[in-house]
Amino acid sequence: MIRVENALKMVLSDIRVLDSEPVKITAALNRILAEDIYSDFNIPAFDNSAMDGYAIKSIDTAGSSRRTARIFDAVDTLKAGDVAKKIVKHNQAIRIMTGAMLPKGADSVVMVEDTKSENRCVEIFKEIKKGENVRKTGEDLRKTEKIIGKGALLKAAHIGMLASIGIQKIKVAKMPKVAVLATGDELIDLGKRPSPGKLYSSNTYSLCGQIKASGAIPKELGIAKDDAAELERKVRSGLDCDIILTSGGVSVGDYDMVKSVLARIGTNIKFWRVAMKPGKPLVFGKIRGIPVFGLPGNPVSSMVSFEIFVRPAILKMLGRKRDYRNEVEAVLEESIAKKKGLKYFLRARTRWEDGSYVTRTTGAQGSGILKSMALANSLIILPEEKEHIKKGEKVTVWFLN
Ligand code: AMP
Ligand code: MG
Repeated sequence: MIRVENALKMVLSDIRVLDSEPVKITAALNRILAEDIYSDFNIPAFDNSAMDGYAIKSIDTAGSSRRTARIFDAVDTLKAGDVAKKIVKHNQAIRIMTGAMLPKGADSVVMVEDTKSENRCVEIFKEIKKGENVRKTGEDLRKTEKIIGKGALLKAAHIGMLASIGIQKIKVAKMPKVAVLATGDELIDLGKRPSPGKLYSSNTYSLCGQIKASGAIPKELGIAKDDAAELERKVRSGLDCDIILTSGGVSVGDYDMVKSVLARIGTNIKFWRVAMKPGKPLVFGKIRGIPVFGLPGNPVSSMVSFEIFVRPAILKMLGRKRDYRNEVEAVLEESIAKKKGLKYFLRARTRWEDGSYVTRTTGAQGSGILKSMALANSLIILPEEKEHIKKGEKVTVWFLN
């Protein structure tokens, strides 16, 4: 049996980053950037007003207050988009709207709330500092600055930023295609009635969801009976993908033949048992350069194994620099006994309370109890060496995406 961290290292050392493809920024949400983006512009491109008010020379407001207002000549008006025709001279003010270019001669803006206008004059009730209420050229993005790095997950703000510097198309990582094959004589597809002893292949659907949530594209290969020839044929139909996943048939039952079928069709098997719970039986290998994961069949085991091994592999293919998983320390609200030598991943609800995270399991933790996963927002991770963890101890928690 191999330790989880060693198994993960082996998996990741076998994964290479996929090529990139160009996309319009309107199609780039949640994609991974495959190039560094530099700004060709200063943003803002010009000094402009942060307020509706008056552009002035700040020095002219020295000593002004409610009682000792200074009076300025209001010589012009600028709305956003205008370019000033006049220069602000001493004791002159130009009415200016938010976003309008600061006129020459002015170094600051007094907001309209601190003024009173009368005829062609304006009274100013406040001392204004140089630069006050002015958005400086380049204060958001500087020309030649790297604004988004290769490997970034593109969110709405990034897309807005790209648009702000006029970029229409960018290179993003190609989305990995991930084949999913369910195995088991007991499995039926949705739409059929389960006869006695049969059940729906829920793993197909939870795995496809996890694949999409990780930024990849699932390809369903359907269900294979526990029959070597059928398994072989269906696994082969996933050879056009970047990753192949199977579920079930990897433990030591009489009909668990995924490992032997994978080996027979030329898979170089790197490991097949990991010291973890749930998910101990787990085959990893490569067939014609394609990583293959033989995930366990139990619904929770298959999902947890995906989170621990397949998601990081997908992220690496996408060029993510690390697994951006949110890991915290939390206080355990119950005592837990475990088997020494195995790393445990317990389904949990973790919340922030009185200045620290607290966590508790979501009830029965059997590897067939999918509800425990649906109720969870996190996994409690208990290290191999531990046997008893007491209520009140601190544990490591991973938030699930
Ligand atoms: P196996 O590893 O094939 O022995 O499967 C272990 C357990 O997981 C059995 O109870 C199976 O019925 C169940 N199982 C296997 N594959 C699936 C699947 N695709 N969807 C739901 N349950 C499954
Ligand atoms: Mg089976």
